[in-house]
Amino acid sequence: MSEVTVTEFADVLKVPVERLLAQLKEAGIELSGGDDAISEEAKLQLLTHLRKSHGRKNPGASLPGTVILNRKSQGEIRLGSGKGQLRTVNVEVKSKRTYINRDVLEEQAREQQEALDQEHRLKEEEQAEIERAAKARVAQKEKQKETEKKLQAEAKQREAEIQRKTEEVSRRKAVQDGARREAEEKRRAAEQVAKEKTGQRRLDREREERQQSGRDIDAAAADRTLHVAKGASARRRKRRPRRRPTHVSVDAQHGFERPTAPVVREVEIPETITVGEIAQRMAVKANDVIKILMNMGMMVTINQVIDQDTAVLVVEEMGHTAKPLREEGIEAQLLESAGEAVDETDLVLRAPVVTVMGHVDHGKTSLLDYVRQTKVVAGEAGGITQHIGAYRVETDRGRITFIDTPGHAAFTAMRARGAQVTDIVVLVVAADDGVMPQTIEAIRHAKAAGVPLVVAVNKIDLDNADLDRVRNELSQHEVISEEWGGENLFAAVSAKSGEGIDKLLEAILLQAELLDLKAADQGPAVGFVLESSLERGRGAVATILVNRGCLQLGDILLAGQEYGRIRAMADEDGAPVEKAGPSSPVVVLGLSGMPAAGGEMQVVADERKAREVAEFRRGKDRDIKLARQLSTSPEDVFSQMEEGVTKSVPIIIKTDVYGSSEALKDALVNLSTEEVKVTAVASGVGGITESDIQLAAASRAVVIGFNVRADGAARKAIKETGVDVRYYSIVYEAIDDVKAAVSGLLTPEVREEIFGLAEVREVFRSPNLGNVAGCMVVDGFVKRSNPIRVLRDNVVIFEGELESLRRFKDDVTDVRAGTECGIGVKNYNDVKVGDQIECYERKEIPRTI
Ligand code: GDP
Ligand code: MG
Repeated sequence: MSEVTVTEFADVLKVPVERLLAQLKEAGIELSGGDDAISEEAKLQLLTHLRKSHGRKNPGASLPGTVILNRKSQGEIRLGSGKGQLRTVNVEVKSKRTYINRDVLEEQAREQQEALDQEHRLKEEEQAEIERAAKARVAQKEKQKETEKKLQAEAKQREAEIQRKTEEVSRRKAVQDGARREAEEKRRAAEQVAKEKTGQRRLDREREERQQSGRDIDAAAADRTLHVAKGASARRRKRRPRRRPTHVSVDAQHGFERPTAPVVREVEIPETITVGEIAQRMAVKANDVIKILMNMGMMVTINQVIDQDTAVLVVEEMGHTAKPLREEGIEAQLLESAGEAVDETDLVLRAPVVTVMGHVDHGKTSLLDYVRQTKVVAGEAGGITQHIGAYRVETDRGRITFIDTPGHAAFTAMRARGAQVTDIVVLVVAADDGVMPQTIEAIRHAKAAGVPLVVAVNKIDLDNADLDRVRNELSQHEVISEEWGGENLFAAVSAKSGEGIDKLLEAILLQAELLDLKAADQGPAVGFVLESSLERGRGAVATILVNRGCLQLGDILLAGQEYGRIRAMADEDGAPVEKAGPSSPVVVLGLSGMPAAGGEMQVVADERKAREVAEFRRGKDRDIKLARQLSTSPEDVFSQMEEGVTKSVPIIIKTDVYGSSEALKDALVNLSTEEVKVTAVASGVGGITESDIQLAAASRAVVIGFNVRADGAARKAIKETGVDVRYYSIVYEAIDDVKAAVSGLLTPEVREEIFGLAEVREVFRSPNLGNVAGCMVVDGFVKRSNPIRVLRDNVVIFEGELESLRRFKDDVTDVRAGTECGIGVKNYNDVKVGDQIECYERKEIPRTI
């Protein structure tokens, strides 16, 4: 074949000469122009180059989609006949080749695939929609069925009931038909009603009458029931329990009949009772009671003491009515003989008892301080001033008793013990700060106790004081000022300058007038224990707020489980006093121990009685505790076992006065959640001692010192043991800190987020990768690094991670929705077509309470 020039070749290839020249140049063949000859070698080289450039990143951009090559080749064929004649024929072969760019093909294929996928997805969505709808229908049907079933069951029950009743009636009729029977029924019903309505005496009378007529009936019945086996009726007669409530005894007149109503007894249950005793009261065998308790998960013996709650359950379980007895009866009896009756007619007005509440730093102490005209703030910080917990204020218009309790928690703790000490709550709100969390808390407490609120908007001396804002914010919590048509008295004050304080006191007294507070000021005193503490050289010291009557030096006091003769009595300023009337706070010495803060106290006639009641209460307390300990149900055991899992924040509380120790303990223990328990390992009054630290070290507890400090030996122990001791003088700060500790211990909530779903379309076997699932990512994206689950029919069949994630031959980190990929699941070779691979992420969210 002869050589051709570039121009000719370009003509053959149907490409412009320049382009061919450029391509030749790229292929490394240097030619000067279109007239240069191009060798076969050069052509080959060009072809190889063009093929190579196919593999380039973006070949389609520079190359045409289709290349058509027309070739013409010429040759000669020699034809020979049999006689040796030769003929030469010229043959021209024209061939046409069409080359299509592979990228274009691939692109087309991809487009088709995508279209298919899209179609598939739509179909699937449709399918899912249909399935969802179907499921919903099924669920609804099931629900319907359930209600139907329920209704049917109810209907059946009713039917059964009716059936039973009919049977009952017919049985009775069979035995004793006729008008006589009906009359009897009616009379019985009437009697029943009468019995229920009338008193015992009338009942007795009726019973007598009935007995008379009953004898008649019995006689008549005997006549009529000759056909009934005598033995049967006799046996029944014998079986019937001897003691029977009156309304059942009516049935006794029909000797042949079983009692139609079960015997329902009202069983009196004291705070504690033995198993044997409760059985006796229900007139059942002790074994039956033991059986019931066993079913409730309690292993008991006949002589075991169970608590009231459990006993009530047992009684109700046996179909009787329980009547829990409050032992106040006994106490009242004791007290009645102990104290003199108070002359209730001789009432005088008493001073209102006021508690100041509000958010921290809104000026409660400053306000009390100003009102009292002393420097309590300085005293409190140094811990020098004796904390008596209450004082009275004399104004032109009357007296007011202010209680200086440790705060809301104490208020609530006292209320929890049933002591409604406070008549009015003064809510302090700083005019520059407005309604804050503890303001809302205070409102809640006051509302719950039904105590009226007087609002003191404090710090009005400040430039940024905004009275209207406070009013507005408070109105959102239903504390509405009188000017706005509400019923709360507002006073704008400044605890700093004293502005408005008189108005506040006026408002308090006005509110008190509305309450019309009156009490007897003579006779034995009754009141509340505000605080108590043990003091060196003085013994038990209790702050008492007299509610009514007159407390006198030398009186015998009974306060909770403590009692004693008042040896010494002092007022809020420490001055000795001999008498204290209603709404007066006094400090008393002489009690047998520290009575619980918030508890009631009263004066009784003689010491022996006081001791009896106190001891009775102590004993009761012990019994109740013991019974609670004994009645360990499986759930209890379970929860105890779980306590190993439950995290706990053990604390030891030491405070300056009993009141704060109780209040703090309650408040802190109440921070417990299901997962984190705050446990008070110990709580007490006084400085932190070495033994406190040792206890803390042993129980891994944090020591909370409220207005108290560690002594020398304790400080040494703290250094040695590294026990965490924290000092506070503000209740809320202690609460906040413990709250933070509890939050820290809460296991972070783990939330799972599913962010990708791929569907297995094909499964390939790969020699080095195991089975690889050819997948289509249908939702979100699949990430190489995240954990996955294999789902089959929406059920998780495998959980693990990815071994490989590939797009074509390349490893990739993530694949988005709408793309195909190859997924190898680590340690799992059983992936099937139709499975789904779900890619998820676990997020930890720290929790607070
Ligand atoms: P508490 O935490 O509610 O007892 O608040 P405090 O009585 O301890 O007061 C907190 C801070 O507010 C203290 O620094 C007080 O001096 C200041 N404060 C209290 N009342 C007023 C007031 O009427 N005006 C101004 N300017 N400051 C006040
Ligand atoms: Mg304060």
